[in-house]
Amino acid sequence: MNNYFNYETLKFILHDVHRLNDILKAERFKDIDADMINILLDGVKDYCDKELYPIFREMDEKPAYYEDGKIHVHPKVGEVMTEFGEMGLIGGHFDEKYGGMQLPESAINAAYTIVSTANNNMSGYPGLTTGSAALITTFGSEALKETYVEKMLSGQWAGTMCLTEPQAGSSLSDITSSASANEDGSYNVKGQKIFISGGDHEFTENFIHLFLARIDGAPAGTKGISLFVVPKLKIGEDGSLSPNNVQTIADFQKMGQKGYCTTHLAFGEDGTTQGWLVGEENKGLKYMFQMMNMARISVGRDATAVSIAAYHASLQYANERVQGRKIKSSGKKDASNNPVKIIEHADVRRMLLFQKSVSEGALSLIHEASALYDSSYNADQETKENLKLLLELITPVAKTYPSEKGKQAVDTGLQILGGYGFCTDFILQQYLRDIRIMSIYEGTTGIQSLDLLGRKIPMNGGKSVQLLVAEFQKEINRAKEHGNLSAYADQLAGGMKTIEKVLGKISGHAMQGEFEKYLADATPFMEMFSTLVIAWQWLKMANTAQDALISNKLTYSKEFYESKIHTMKFFYKYELSRIEGIANIFDDEKFLTLQLENELII
Ligand SMILES: Cc1cc2nc3c(=O)[nH]c(=O)nc-3n(C[C@H](O)[C@H](O)[C@H](O)COP(=O)(O)OP(=O)(O)OC[C@H]3O[C@@H](n4cnc5c(N)ncnc54)[C@H](O)[C@@H]3O)c2cc1C
Repeated sequence: MNNYFNYETLKFILHDVHRLNDILKAERFKDIDADMINILLDGVKDYCDKELYPIFREMDEKPAYYEDGKIHVHPKVGEVMTEFGEMGLIGGHFDEKYGGMQLPESAINAAYTIVSTANNNMSGYPGLTTGSAALITTFGSEALKETYVEKMLSGQWAGTMCLTEPQAGSSLSDITSSASANEDGSYNVKGQKIFISGGDHEFTENFIHLFLARIDGAPAGTKGISLFVVPKLKIGEDGSLSPNNVQTIADFQKMGQKGYCTTHLAFGEDGTTQGWLVGEENKGLKYMFQMMNMARISVGRDATAVSIAAYHASLQYANERVQGRKIKSSGKKDASNNPVKIIEHADVRRMLLFQKSVSEGALSLIHEASALYDSSYNADQETKENLKLLLELITPVAKTYPSEKGKQAVDTGLQILGGYGFCTDFILQQYLRDIRIMSIYEGTTGIQSLDLLGRKIPMNGGKSVQLLVAEFQKEINRAKEHGNLSAYADQLAGGMKTIEKVLGKISGHAMQGEFEKYLADATPFMEMFSTLVIAWQWLKMANTAQDALISNKLTYSKEFYESKIHTMKFFYKYELSRIEGIANIFDDEKFLTLQLENELII
């Protein structure tokens, strides 16, 4: 068995903290129970132990590469697509009519947490196929559904998201790929797409690109972008496959996630490439946001998974490495004493608790997002709208916190290994290189922060924030009933006041039309806000652990629950306390980062 995550913690978060059984009461999930989901997760864990974790390092050491017009990846990629198709990990969440199992998103997220802790280079291949197939089932015509969905969900064909172009990364309004209508209802598409994850390789029969382009004469900006299905191989009426002139130009060589290919594709440059419109003209970006929002949570989950795996690698090392002696009450080290394992040193324990508090806090947030999504299957219209608003508010946070703080947590984990952490004999350096991409793709941290402060917080007159505050209050009230947690309830309430004060201050700029000033420090705001959100998740976990201890209904050991409460205390002391310092940035009225008359960045 490989020690890259803690199964009990995953189950505690899924079943106890986010109450899977309540989610399963929805009519949609009538044929599913918690035991079935546990069996699915056991199977995934077994598969990861035997098949994915053992090749994690190999995928880094033998990266994907381009040669003679082809992308070469690890041979396991093709097997994983088929096997994940069979296990229901590509289409598990889909309606039965598409061959899905109507599993809750929470179960799929838990399964992929295991996959990505074992091997984060692999999860994107099936994951993007799920997201692109979902775009077709939600917005596509019956013909598109019939042609593509079944083969995608089985893993026979793979899906991609084709947004980025050399001049259009963060700013998708600058997309220039074009589409010209044909008489038969199809379009000829043309353009180059870069950084396309999982965009081509030899082990999957066909690649179905979900492609953004402008139809000739479409309005400028985001309102003129349409979405197309563009297969690598066209499907004839008899099911035969023929080339669609999608050329693979290169595979980007990267510092991390080297086993996950990142392709450069050209469409319509060497002959005609045909695409088929999804939904209505000019609504492509709106549709694509369904996939992007899902992918943002997935990136947050993968970042979380890497930080969890790194924590377990550091923990194992700290339990084995012997170095230094304990400090005596005299304040001196006694050389006659035996050296100790480094886990006995306070500073090493601080680093481990930092890793644990960040990675498990992030995991709980990812499951909060899934629970919000799943709960809407059993809600009246008003509750559904509220759940959607809450999910929209926490999506940029669920993407950013695990990526940014997870990166720091992995870096801290590497520090625990001292010099060995820097050496390729140990795995920490791979985790650090792998997690680095998470704060870049699916919208950089800067872009997520602008989304949070510029769009999500003011959304619906601030209703989403009010809903979140009500959720915080529920945990505060629960904690107040547990005498030992009451002080932490006060600390969370204090953090809420701090952020309210900051928002009160900066919204003055927005009201005066000075949006550049309002948004200038969106990223420090994200740091503060996301820390508070994770503090809420930790209070939720501590309340759940305390409930179990009081009722003596213990699924796990007493120490397991006590360690959750202890980690919450660590997070409040070492992390939540930092938001006061960040708030000071907003007290200072000098806008040092805005463009000034004299250029001061030279
Ligand atoms: C490994 C990898 C895999 C990828 N996979 C895919 C994929 O499958 N499909 C796909 O379509 N794309 C994919 N991408 C593209 C990815 O989404 C973009 O790289 C990302 O959105 C950033 O765009 P950019 O690289 O052009 O950077 P830019 O947009 O040029 O940004 C550069 C810097 O400027 C900042 N910035 C930009 N605009 C603003 C602004 N308005 N305000 C403040 N700051 C700003 C950014 O935060 C960033 O720090 C992938 C990228 C990589 C590296």
